[in-house]
Amino acid sequence: MATILDGREVSKIYREKLKKEIGEYKSKGYREPALAVILVGDDPASQVYVNNKRKACQQVGIKSLFYHLPEDTSEEKLLNLVRELNEDPEVDGILVQLPLPKHINPQKVIETIAPDKDVDGFHPENMGKLIANLDSGFVPCTPLGIKILLDHYGIDVKGKDTTIVGAGYIVGKPLSVLMLNMDATITVCHIYTKDLKKHTLNADILVSATGVAHLIKEDMVKEGAIVIDVGISKKDGKIVGDVDFERVKEKASYITPVPGGVGPMTVTALLLNTVKAYKMHLELS
Ligand code: NAD
Repeated sequence: MATILDGREVSKIYREKLKKEIGEYKSKGYREPALAVILVGDDPASQVYVNNKRKACQQVGIKSLFYHLPEDTSEEKLLNLVRELNEDPEVDGILVQLPLPKHINPQKVIETIAPDKDVDGFHPENMGKLIANLDSGFVPCTPLGIKILLDHYGIDVKGKDTTIVGAGYIVGKPLSVLMLNMDATITVCHIYTKDLKKHTLNADILVSATGVAHLIKEDMVKEGAIVIDVGISKKDGKIVGDVDFERVKEKASYITPVPGGVGPMTVTALLLNTVKAYKMHLELS
């Protein structure tokens, strides 16, 4: 029976530390850190994510500025708002909730966010810094949250055969680079991978980030593997992950639940990135 990698518990610890740190800066007379959150349209899942992020900001003492724009907002109007926030010295981070309505090019929006305020870490400059293994950039929140979770449980990834299923821009791809920087041996699988099971069965660490409910079955997991489930989908009205949790937990040594695993860690990583931006902007150490 696997040990649960408890994202809620670990998040609590990190958020307490952040709250204390921010409180200390405020007591020295510094302004509070601020995150601008932009939501375009009324996608219900996006609204839930945005609310969670804003609530978490409030918990630790980060001011969250919320811009809720209508679905038919033009690309130019959104880009102009981002440009304005780029120039605002009281704003440390800018987050544009994805996905955006179809008439807006997300890459254009990402590239308009100033790299020093790109707390999601999606700007090509920050992706480049990740590949170059430079500390001055922002690592995308889900990969960063996974790293913190593994570190917290003392899981050393060095030399471990690690299979990442899913090669998306916001999870799979940057996570493969981050874990390579941590000296893991990486295999990345995707929809065109010929024999997925061959690769998952080889994994000491198996990460799945596809959004395909229960894609990873018990017979695809090596005995004693560490299993990280990033996926979020709905099955029979319930939120489930990519991993068939109930069966796989009997075989794995560690496993993340969905919900309560990677999700809260992603939000915690966002708070950490925002405070990192704040400290860079105010030149605090
Ligand atoms: P994406 O669409 O960008 O990428 C999905 C990847 O999965 C692609 O590389 C695709 O080739 C691969 N894939 C799809 N079906 C597959 C299959 N049957 N076999 C093998 N590979 C397959 O998605 P994303 O933005 O990376 O998100 C992936 C999942 O992670 C979604 O469920 C999303 O909701 C979730 N997510 C969770 C968090 C969190 O905080 N827990 C954060 C971000 C994303």
